[in-house]
Amino acid sequence: MRKQGMLHKLESARSEGLAQFIGVSFDHFLPFDNNQTSVERMIALIKSDAFDVIQIPMSLIRIERVEDQILPLAAERDLGVVVNFPTAGGILTSDIGIFYNILGSYITTPYQGALLFSLLHPAISCVLSGMSTQAFADENCALGSIIENISGLERRQLWDNIQAVGIGPCRSCGRCAPYTQGIPVRQILTYYDAVHRFGIQAASPWYEKFREQVLACDTFKEADVVCPEGFNVLGEVKKVYR
Ligand code: SF4
Repeated sequence: MRKQGMLHKLESARSEGLAQFIGVSFDHFLPFDNNQTSVERMIALIKSDAFDVIQIPMSLIRIERVEDQILPLAAERDLGVVVNFPTAGGILTSDIGIFYNILGSYITTPYQGALLFSLLHPAISCVLSGMSTQAFADENCALGSIIENISGLERRQLWDNIQAVGIGPCRSCGRCAPYTQGIPVRQILTYYDAVHRFGIQAASPWYEKFREQVLACDTFKEADVVCPEGFNVLGEVKKVYR
């Protein structure tokens, strides 16, 4: 560790009793950088053993690699896991699509379903939620009693039922981003999948705003070469607007 580096300063703060734990946070949609996806960089940070807590984005609009790769590693290393972005930027506050069929008998509002999803996983310690009004705070805190009354077996079954719905083919790796003329391909494909696979209609304005820009494109030269899923990337994005 560098003597005057940030980690050194954080370690000093901890030894002086100013902090108890050191954490690191990441986002699904960070750029592909230094030949690594954001998930791969997070894995490297976890394996550095420098951190006690990680903050990860997770919601019912799922991007499977977090669940497959980050959560098992965090559990193995006994890290605290804080989930941010549980409503996918507010999309899930009023609409959780087909997941209401799975969670509906436990919750009274979609927002509670969005928060409950992450809390079903045993590696997750905490979910961050909006508490800007008394009503929001009451709605969210009611989850404490809800989750307490769901047995371990039921939680696993609910988790498995949600996973069984599947996810879309784009893995949000970001490799194609330099070649897509500023069009946010992974976000468009992720939110399109949220509408068509999960029935979350509230996600459609997110990609509709790019309709004209996408339809005006002729080529995403080189994007297909780097896509690990072997997509005709522009072709996949145009399918969203057909
Ligand atoms: S379209 Fe392909 S390259 Fe682009 S983010 Fe999705 S999986 Fe990665």
